[in-house]
Amino acid sequence: MSDAQNENFVLSLYTKTWVRDSHGLFDYESNQTKYLNAILAESICIGRKKHQITTLHNSNELKEGEELLFNVRHPEPNLYILDNEVPVRVQPNQENINDLSNKIWYILKNDPFKSNNSNQVVLNTNDDYYLCQNDVIKLGRVKYSLNEINIPSRNNNIDRAPAINDIKKYDIDDLNKNTEPVFDFIFQAKDSSEYNDIPDDERLCKICYSSENDRINNPLVHLCNCNGGLRFSHFMCIKRWMETKLQIKQNDKNTVRSYSIKSFNCEICKTPYPFKFKLNGIEKPFELISLEKPLGCDYIVLESLNQVKDNCNIKTIHVIQLNNDELIIGRGHESDIRVNDISVSRNHAKLKYNTEDGTLLIRDLKSKFGTLILIKKPLVIKEKKIHLQIGRTYIEGWLMTMEEFEKLKKEKKNKALNKQQHQNQQQHQYQQQHEYQQHQFQQQNQPMNQEQNLDNNAMDLEDKNFGPKTFYQNQ
Ligand SMILES: [Zn+2]
Ligand SMILES: [Zn+2]
Repeated sequence: MSDAQNENFVLSLYTKTWVRDSHGLFDYESNQTKYLNAILAESICIGRKKHQITTLHNSNELKEGEELLFNVRHPEPNLYILDNEVPVRVQPNQENINDLSNKIWYILKNDPFKSNNSNQVVLNTNDDYYLCQNDVIKLGRVKYSLNEINIPSRNNNIDRAPAINDIKKYDIDDLNKNTEPVFDFIFQAKDSSEYNDIPDDERLCKICYSSENDRINNPLVHLCNCNGGLRFSHFMCIKRWMETKLQIKQNDKNTVRSYSIKSFNCEICKTPYPFKFKLNGIEKPFELISLEKPLGCDYIVLESLNQVKDNCNIKTIHVIQLNNDELIIGRGHESDIRVNDISVSRNHAKLKYNTEDGTLLIRDLKSKFGTLILIKKPLVIKEKKIHLQIGRTYIEGWLMTMEEFEKLKKEKKNKALNKQQHQNQQQHQYQQQHEYQQHQFQQQNQPMNQEQNLDNNAMDLEDKNFGPKTFYQNQ
């Protein structure tokens, strides 16, 4: 328990939840959101039930239909940490790829110079984000991992940013630095020689029926969930098969080469294939797609994480050469890095490389569903507001001083007094507003029930006992 006398700060959280549940997206242009404000001074778990943000003392208290969003840990005075454990080095599949949507994501700053789209309901003021190795980027519902970063000048200069001790600021560079990949991009595979218990006549390639196993050049490997005699395939047999489906595109400036395969999975069991795998005792990984990498230039490799459509896994890999030109990521035909998904805006985000210091900036171009970076380390909340997203919930978190907190309390108290005086009148207004909203939603053909109404049970601070933990809701 924290010593209240040393406590100078409380944690302030503000959340908005999109009332639609669609692929873990938050619509930055929709007004159909539900708000919650919370002031905290203790360790607690934050959950979500439908559109309602809930609080729990621990995750065992989760009720039916309620999901855990994140934990607030308050181990000592003035220290508040948000976390929500991210699994590392797991083999991607359809289930765990969707789990990632419910992790904590950092929302990229909107481009201040781009003003053609002013429909944004929240304008976040996060610091700019500089990409690091193994970062997971989310554009709409499409996720990419930065699985290779080839910037030799940067490696000499790795500690360029001094650590920030200022309680107000974030060391955004440090959010994901030196973290492990979330998915095991180099899959540890087994070849037929490691299956001594399997009869010889079952150690055959399911594509060419040969039992030959050349561990160095063409191993007979098990890469999917097939069993028995269908277990093995030659590396080269799968690769040749994949090459028949491979599409390669290049941007106008010839700086981005995009490789895509629509069903990058076993034909029989539908298990997604790993792009790279390795075998015991062999150092060099095997790659199921041959990528042409630019020689003597700085470049990065972005690999799409599983996107399963009609049971088929879509794999896209972009090899991106870096120079002084900005690169646009989006659904538009003119984009340098084209992402063909309806949740991606035409001009969604941009990459800006600084040839001087080797930094690679990514910034959102006011996209409808935002550009996000997966946060893999526990996040220490500072005085400066940080903007985060977990699935369809948008979150702002910052530390508030006790003085600010007292002031807010007073304001709320006055409001409560006023409220009491006008209670009858308000009751009347509420009724009208309620009917109006119902009408609005019906018109927009959005089925809404009583529970989903945006204006329910606004709690007043004064009605609650003002303990160390206080919640209040706005409409
Ligand atoms: Zn074969
Ligand atoms: Zn299979």
